[in-house]
Amino acid sequence: MRNHQQTFDQLRAHARDTALLAATQAALEWDEHTKMPPAAAEFRAEQLTLLAGMIHQRRTDPKLGDWLAELADSPLAAEPHSETGTTIRQLRREHDKHVKLPQSLVEELARTASLAQHAWQQARTKDDYASFAPHLAKTFELKRAQAEALGYDDSPYDPLLDDFEPQERTANVAAVLSELREALIPLVAEIAGSQRRPDVQILARRYPIDVQEQFAKQASAAIGFSYERGRLDVTAHPFCTGLGPNDCRITTRYDERHFNSAFFGTLHEAGHGIYDQGLPGDWYGLPPGEAVSLGIHESQSRMWENLVGRSRAFWEHFYPTAQAQFPDALADVALDAFYFAINDVRPSLVRVEADEATYNLHILIRFEMEQALLADDLPIDDVPAAWNEKYHQYLGIRPPGDADGVLQDVHWSAGLVGYFPTYALGNLYAAQFFAQAENELGDLSADFASGQFEPLRAWLAEKIHRHGQCYSAAELVQNATGKPLSHGPLIAQLRAKLAPLYGLN
Ligand code: ZN
Repeated sequence: MRNHQQTFDQLRAHARDTALLAATQAALEWDEHTKMPPAAAEFRAEQLTLLAGMIHQRRTDPKLGDWLAELADSPLAAEPHSETGTTIRQLRREHDKHVKLPQSLVEELARTASLAQHAWQQARTKDDYASFAPHLAKTFELKRAQAEALGYDDSPYDPLLDDFEPQERTANVAAVLSELREALIPLVAEIAGSQRRPDVQILARRYPIDVQEQFAKQASAAIGFSYERGRLDVTAHPFCTGLGPNDCRITTRYDERHFNSAFFGTLHEAGHGIYDQGLPGDWYGLPPGEAVSLGIHESQSRMWENLVGRSRAFWEHFYPTAQAQFPDALADVALDAFYFAINDVRPSLVRVEADEATYNLHILIRFEMEQALLADDLPIDDVPAAWNEKYHQYLGIRPPGDADGVLQDVHWSAGLVGYFPTYALGNLYAAQFFAQAENELGDLSADFASGQFEPLRAWLAEKIHRHGQCYSAAELVQNATGKPLSHGPLIAQLRAKLAPLYGLN
């Protein structure tokens, strides 16, 4: 009789070594995006290619399949939410996916993504959709092949969504998001029709960069991001990456003439970082020590950025400091004027610049279109017109060209189909978690107004962070809030904040 524990220990040691390599890769990538001199790019690409190959080889090692097969019916797998059960289940899922995808398809997906991203960049610069269209067609053709290879019951979108939101179903997501859409479109239209407008120019005054950095660090530390176990640096495209259990790197970018981008960007990335810092470090790189899904990850960043960082109570605490640190910009600005300005809602063309309310409509448009593309229900040549029509229907605006329309996002060119809905799921999860935290902890605005953020952080750590992948996203939502995911809390929170600001009924 084989000893299951020994086999499990071998599996764990193997996965941990892979995690060490992946963290090394992440360290080199972090350096590439923050510190690396430009001339080093070629050598760095060589290093990263070598590491990627080594990691891929380890993740597809046939030994893994043997170990997992042996452990599948062992007592260690019997309790699905235990650390060992979770490790076996999740590694099994990942392994099965690898095995189902033919090497030739994996290589063709990678080659196509590389060519398509290059073509996309050029097409976007020249506002020339036609030159990108063949790449988009090829991408969706390969994504259909990928879905067929992986297999599905209901929708070919299911196995693609599973890469980003494991175990979630397209039909579920579509149901929740269409309810969200029906409630959001009239709310956004009401706001667009309001006579009240904040003075957003106050956010475009002069905010010295060194002071912005100091202030963003102070606020992100106050909400619970540990600078003993993390760093904040500058990059072109902000991100959060883990280089080890006690080494979480967040990045931001500064604009002297725009307060929001660095400040709320830092709160957002710190929210991701607080999640990473709350995962069980002993299981770093293994499923019990890893984030459960992109949607849950995004719920943590959006919660601190929007539900906390854009609340009036947060600024009751921080505004006197902001005024003292940015006297030229804010000395003559009342708290209410500032609070209204950071909660400006207006339909706009570009997703990454969208506000908290309209953002979800940008996501719905992409989610609906990529399902149609995958089902071959939308001819490639009709994509820009379909895109523009949806912007008109949902947001009441029409892109003047494709650069600020269908060509604005990198995702499809990079082969990331099924990724977009995780952004909206993040907003929905965040609202539902936050509402439940307030049910249990009482009115959190009193905490925020006095600079107390630890009760909320500790609640999130208890209900979400410490579980790693031991529960699926849907199970976490059910366990933490007692209900399945719904659009209700997000709509209620948006209304509660925006109705008084915009004078809505
Ligand atoms: Zn994020």
